[in-house]
Amino acid sequence: MTEVHLRDALDTLKSTGVRITPQRHAILEFLIQSMIHPTADEIYRALEDKFPNMSVATVYNNLRVFRESGLVKELTFGDSSSRFDFVTIEHYHIICDSCGKIVDFHYPGLDEVEQLASHLTGFQVNSHRLEIYGSCPTCISQATKMQ
Ligand SMILES: [Zn+2]
Ligand SMILES: [Zn+2]
Repeated sequence: MTEVHLRDALDTLKSTGVRITPQRHAILEFLIQSMIHPTADEIYRALEDKFPNMSVATVYNNLRVFRESGLVKELTFGDSSSRFDFVTIEHYHIICDSCGKIVDFHYPGLDEVEQLASHLTGFQVNSHRLEIYGSCPTCISQATKMQ
């Protein structure tokens, strides 16, 4: 699965004229494999052994290139650090209030909401976002242990 996504992503970059450097390759691979919606800082820390000359700013610049090519989504949650998500199919996020963990889930039923909203308001709809908040299983079990 990862291999296919990576090859498609590299093809997309090539077709938009973006040069594939070893760093870009590694950042993309990490984003595709990681389920944690990493921040630029987390990507930097995961790859700094492999690329000692790479800076957080380099990671950021590469993420911006990927975002402009439509390969990754930047998720902003009102705090200073954005998280990055490799775009496969439309999905939603459930976020832990305690530890900030973000988990993907699919709910195709919401596609109709765009049509409904457009129909009711006359807007041309571009996108929508939905976030669910709660406590993740790890935080729930830690909370019960403390009592
Ligand atoms: Zn949690
Ligand atoms: Zn996601």
